[in-house]
Amino acid sequence: MRPFPQMLFSCTLTVVTLFFSTLCSGQEWKSGVEWQEPPVVTPGSTDNAPPSDAIVLFDGSSLEAWEQGDQWLIQDGVAIPQKTAITTKQHFGDMQVHLEWSAPTEIRGAGQGRGNSGCYLMGLYEVQILDSFENETYFDGQSGSIYKQTPPMANAMRKPGEWNTYQIIFNAPRFRGNGDLQTPAYVTLIQNGILMLNHFELHGATSYTESPHYKVHPETGPISLQFHGDAVRFRNIWVRELKAPQGRRVAAPFNLPVNKPAPEKKATEDKPKDGEQGGAVPKAEQK
Ligand code: MG
Repeated sequence: MRPFPQMLFSCTLTVVTLFFSTLCSGQEWKSGVEWQEPPVVTPGSTDNAPPSDAIVLFDGSSLEAWEQGDQWLIQDGVAIPQKTAITTKQHFGDMQVHLEWSAPTEIRGAGQGRGNSGCYLMGLYEVQILDSFENETYFDGQSGSIYKQTPPMANAMRKPGEWNTYQIIFNAPRFRGNGDLQTPAYVTLIQNGILMLNHFELHGATSYTESPHYKVHPETGPISLQFHGDAVRFRNIWVRELKAPQGRRVAAPFNLPVNKPAPEKKATEDKPKDGEQGGAVPKAEQK
């Protein structure tokens, strides 16, 4: 067996040779798709602040963006559920939702009766909001679950009274013209920087009494915040409408082997003579 330094040198030389042979082969792969330039979006002053293309749903001053918003209490820049659910006037399909919420500082009740609310996407699909800090309940009903469809991958709750952040990425379901489901809805959820739901495929609308199933609905729908009788607090709510990158195929993809040798040139054409630029290197200078 060769000594270690010699093996290391040999391996390094192989990697470097492969790298440069790939670089010099001139066979870069291209998709053949002409992409549109992604739009410029200016981030907020922090990652929680709304970026330039966000639709602000609650900035601490008004619930104007919501049907029944006047039913909730706004106190010190915080919205507190009262009497009824609230529902956005504007409707959305694929979306990124940011919201911050806090379970009541004073602990009341237990299980589903403690700090319960919910964020209903398209008014149908509930991402559960619940005080799950040292509070036992069924796992597919705790904070960060899709209600009665899946538990979250972690319990990332902050203590009652402290603020939690939800970042929700939602892909709306698609239906065929005859009402059949074409593609289901998907939800990704990050709570307090921790991944809770990873592109979870929804089985249909969430319900307390019914098994989940899809019913055809429009391409967009409202966001709804649940009133469950608990003084959950909300602040800083915004949404971005999502649009997949746009492109069109203008050519078949290049699909050549990376190390395919360049075609040989004809002997009489374009071949530099010895001594000319690009010509053969005199033997004395070869190394
Ligand atoms: Mg709920």
